[in-house]
Amino acid sequence: MHPDLERLIALQRLDTTAEAARRKLADEPEHAKVLEARLEAARQRVAAAKTAVAANQAARREIEKDVAMHQSRLSKFRETAMAVKTNVEYHAVQKEIGYAQGEIKTLEDKVLERMLEADELSSAFKKAEADLVAEQKAADAERKAITAQHAELQASVDRIATERAALVAALDKGLLAMFEQVARKRNGIAVAEARDGVCSICHVRLRPQVFNSVRRNDSILQCDHCNRILYFAHAPAPATPDTSPQPAS
Ligand SMILES: [Zn+2]
Repeated sequence: MHPDLERLIALQRLDTTAEAARRKLADEPEHAKVLEARLEAARQRVAAAKTAVAANQAARREIEKDVAMHQSRLSKFRETAMAVKTNVEYHAVQKEIGYAQGEIKTLEDKVLERMLEADELSSAFKKAEADLVAEQKAADAERKAITAQHAELQASVDRIATERAALVAALDKGLLAMFEQVARKRNGIAVAEARDGVCSICHVRLRPQVFNSVRRNDSILQCDHCNRILYFAHAPAPATPDTSPQPAS
């Protein structure tokens, strides 16, 4: 293979790897934000569950105050009942007693409802707290992984920069300029494999003569359509006989 073609292929590999690493590094703040948002949502669910428990307790205390009020009225009516002189007065006070008893019964039913609801709310609160702990644990593990990956990516970017500088120093200046010009125009990809007679990236068919030259890998040729530098990947000789089914010829 033409030594500069080999260098250009290596250069493309380095640039593609470095670009992927840089993209992952650039995604880190967004990833951290997503983690924080998930934690915040779990914290808010805990806070909402806690508020619901407190609201239930407050409502129950209000009802119990009303019960106490009706009970004190009831005992007053009972005292009055013992002191009444006439039948009319007796019936009137009995009516008040009946009314107060009815109110107390209704309110006590409401207290019971609140108590049942309190059981549900308290288990929902406990579940929200357990979820938050689990979310926190998962976020810690993910943050640790991000930190480890960050160091790895940064090291890889640094290593690639050193390798790239060595490659560029050995590469023909005109070819480097061509590579960089195509890379700028073509989304960072300046080198393409020619496969089955087409440029494997823009998929345009190469002239047979061009494809034949590319197959030899002994000169620098560009795709007529996308201008990418073309090379041909010869299938490596298999170490073991190929046992995969072969199409009938
Ligand atoms: Zn092309």
